[in-house]
Amino acid sequence: MFYKSWSQKGINYILDLLNANGDSFLSYDDFVCKYNININFLNYYGTTSAIKAYFLDCKIESQTTKSENIVEKFKKAKKPSKFVYSSLIEKKQTQPTISQSKWLNDLNIKNQIEVNWKEVYSLPFKATIETKLTNFQYKFIHRRIATNSFLHKIGKSPSDKCTFCDLETKSLLHLFWECKFIQTFWKELESWLSTKLQTPIACSKLNCLGIKKIDQDNSNTFYHILLLVKYFIDLCKLKSVLPKMSAFKNKLQQVQSMEKQIGHAESFSKKWGLLSCI
Ligand SMILES: [Zn+2]
Repeated sequence: MFYKSWSQKGINYILDLLNANGDSFLSYDDFVCKYNININFLNYYGTTSAIKAYFLDCKIESQTTKSENIVEKFKKAKKPSKFVYSSLIEKKQTQPTISQSKWLNDLNIKNQIEVNWKEVYSLPFKATIETKLTNFQYKFIHRRIATNSFLHKIGKSPSDKCTFCDLETKSLLHLFWECKFIQTFWKELESWLSTKLQTPIACSKLNCLGIKKIDQDNSNTFYHILLLVKYFIDLCKLKSVLPKMSAFKNKLQQVQSMEKQIGHAESFSKKWGLLSCI
């Protein structure tokens, strides 16, 4: 909501519409008198009503302490629009408890607090701007990647066995971690990372699956690579080819070339450094 005439009078924040105590809106007459502004009373009451409706929508009465808290937070927020967006979606958020408990079960994690789910869901967005990768990790972590086991059940695959080893009934964990061909690939990746960085790099199962960020400097860079690996494994599954390190390095090179073209040289070298394949 933006009124040029209001802005010209220095009225930019909700705070500007409040009385001296900051606990209620100015009356129309007080507002006109305070700012010496010529406006229709409907505009003024329409605006204050919309703000009140927002706070009511947040189940917060404007006279309560809680309301004062939210006004205070709003005033202090560096990004007010982001603050309002977060407040609005907060009520609609639900925890995907079924997928979370399946992961805990698969990974044999007994204690819920060992996994920082908030971090798990936010890591992809810190590591990459590629929506195909963030979308992939979203589906992966919510267990929405179709395995042969599922495809066979719905009649879309002739076999429920793993595409790579043709032995195990393919579960998500088998496909991205346990399969012997995938294990070989992860080991090759570790070895390549260690050689490039001239220091031993060990990626745990939780790191590789994106459940925990790797304990290294530039953890977002590692997260990006490990995310790209999972995406690459899924592509190989669709093409029914074994994942090879040479093909993966080509993929990584494409990603880095794209980032180099759209970003600053300084941020590129800070992110990729010795791991640059270009
Ligand atoms: Zn397999």
